[in-house]
Amino acid sequence: MDILKEKILQYGKVIDNRLVKVDSFLNHQLDIELFNEIGKEFKKRFREKNITKILTIEASGIGIACITAQYFHVPVVFAKKHNAGNLGKDIYQAEVYSFTKDVLYNVRVSKEYLSSEDKILIIDDFLANGQAVTGLINVAKQAKAEVVGVGIVIEKRFQKGREMIEDKNIKLESLAVIEKIRDGKIVFN
Ligand code: 5GP
Repeated sequence: MDILKEKILQYGKVIDNRLVKVDSFLNHQLDIELFNEIGKEFKKRFREKNITKILTIEASGIGIACITAQYFHVPVVFAKKHNAGNLGKDIYQAEVYSFTKDVLYNVRVSKEYLSSEDKILIIDDFLANGQAVTGLINVAKQAKAEVVGVGIVIEKRFQKGREMIEDKNIKLESLAVIEKIRDGKIVFN
C-alpha cells in the first residue's frame, strides 16, 4: 500500500534498528483518512472469507479494527490487557510476551463475545515475533471459533511473526512489509 509506505518513510522514527515509532499517524495521533484506506484494503484482501467478527488487542489495534469493521459490517471484539477484573470468570485468556516492553501479560475476552460460529479476522498494527497474534489465535481456539485471516498494518519481515502464522495455515496479509532496517533506514520488500 503505497500511501502507507510513504507515511512510514516520512514520519516513522527508527529506534535501535528494530522498533518503528509511528505515533504521528497510527499509534497516538490517528490519521483517519489513512485508516479508511487501510480498512478498504483489508476488505479487498479478505473479501472472500465470510468474516463474522474482527478480533484485536487493546489499545493500538482498536482504532484500526473499528474502521475496518465498517467495511465488513461486523462487530469488533478487543482482547483486554488492563482492568480486566470486571470481566468475571467466564473468560478465555492467553499469555502474551510483549516484544516492545519485555514483559508477559494476559489477554482476556469474555466468553459471551466469541463462539464456535465465528469466522474471525485478527487485526493488529504491527507484526514482530507474532506473540500478540498467537495469543489472539489461542483465545479464538478456546472458543472453537475459526481464525480465517490475519491483517497487519506494518510487518517487520526480519522477525519471526510470519513463520508463526503461516505454520498454522492461516492467511496473512500485511499492508507494508519492512524487509530490513539498516543504519536507521527502513527498507521495504
Ligand atoms: P509481536 O507480538 O508480533 O512480537 O509484536 C507485535 C506487537 O508489539 C504489536 O501489537 C505492537 O503493538 C508491538 N510492536 C512490535 N514491534 C513494534 C514496532 O516496531 N513499533 C511499534 N509501534 N509497535 C511494535
